[in-house]
Amino acid sequence: MTSPSAVGSGPSAERHVRGTPVTSVVVVQPTPFCNINCSYCYLPDRADASTMADDTLRALFGKLFTSGWAAPQVTVIWHAGEPLVMPVAWYERAFALIESLRPPDVGIHHSFQTNGTLLTRAWCDLFKRWHVGVGVSIDGPRRFNDAHRVGRDGRSTYDKVIAGIRLLHAEAVPFHVISVLTDASLGAADEMLAFYRAERIDEVCFNVEESEGSHVSALFASAAPGARFRAFLEQFWREARRAGDIAFIREVDGMIPRVFRPEGGTMHNVQVEPFAMLNVDCHGNVATYSPELLGLGNAAYGDFIVGNVNVDTLEAMRASPVLAAMARDIDAGVEQCRATCDYFAVCGGGAPINKLTENGSFASTATGFCELTQKIPADIVLDAFDRLQGVPVALPPQAPAARRTIPLVPV
Ligand code: SF4
Repeated sequence: MTSPSAVGSGPSAERHVRGTPVTSVVVVQPTPFCNINCSYCYLPDRADASTMADDTLRALFGKLFTSGWAAPQVTVIWHAGEPLVMPVAWYERAFALIESLRPPDVGIHHSFQTNGTLLTRAWCDLFKRWHVGVGVSIDGPRRFNDAHRVGRDGRSTYDKVIAGIRLLHAEAVPFHVISVLTDASLGAADEMLAFYRAERIDEVCFNVEESEGSHVSALFASAAPGARFRAFLEQFWREARRAGDIAFIREVDGMIPRVFRPEGGTMHNVQVEPFAMLNVDCHGNVATYSPELLGLGNAAYGDFIVGNVNVDTLEAMRASPVLAAMARDIDAGVEQCRATCDYFAVCGGGAPINKLTENGSFASTATGFCELTQKIPADIVLDAFDRLQGVPVALPPQAPAARRTIPLVPV
């Protein structure tokens, strides 16, 4: 997840709160409910079957489109619960409503992150009709997937997800997969690759098991997770390229354009720009910055909610004291990153949720998460080009990040 203003240009809390936001990602929670119960899930209300009302959806997109904040291209990610527990007809209505409100100079791209257990031909028809981006969460072979991704009865989800993936193939629906890497799967790069190849999965994203909310990552607590992650990723990349049938590995292929970019390109890290992401729950409550903040609580920032689309204007949310406190501290953290970190050029100051969870403060810098998601992938790419060229390649000063075409979505 990742528009707006140039991170490399020296953002300050004051500028953020005063400058006109540019919203390029809207994460919408049609329902907090999830039909399965992953052991590492950070979503606190996944047994809550509340659903978003049409009026809330109309208020959200009506206010966004009349605010002038919408970027020329807005990605709408339906997530934060299992989106497919809502009926296909609900999305047909929702997409048509958004389309009826959309200004002609704003493009909308819908995207689903799903656990894949509820996929049917009717969903595939919807995806194809609306050109929906689809991400399926599966953690690799059965033994890794079922260690954490289990049903509410504690039983395996693997066969249902595989059936869903095969249906997407049969219906010619493009999709990518997000796999959470855990302590166990980190040592099994070849087994993971064999799994993707067997299931003809050619776009792969790895999320490392994080400490978020109340979940404490066993991976982060293990010995030398960084070295093990690096070994995994190097081996996976090497063997995937040799096999030639994995077209995209987000951690590598998403990093290459961030390291080797056109001079003067623009850096985007939507997690540190207020309202670059609008994160909206089914009741219309709005948070920004890292989407995982919505639903959590904190002594300094309360529930991170800056307003509600049913009663507040976006301008009123921008004047929220909660936003001011978060902007102050998140910007302080970004400035510390800029001043101290060699990887700022490709990272832009990291993910506030991970700084808060791991360091206890937004106004901080390095985390275990940034080592795994920024530093190690950047080092792998740079080392590969060193070997290719025979001379060391340095990170560009304040190198900007390319926009990811596959959103980074927590699962
Ligand atoms: S890699 Fe970590 S320390 Fe460096 S800029 Fe990103 S969040 Fe900050």
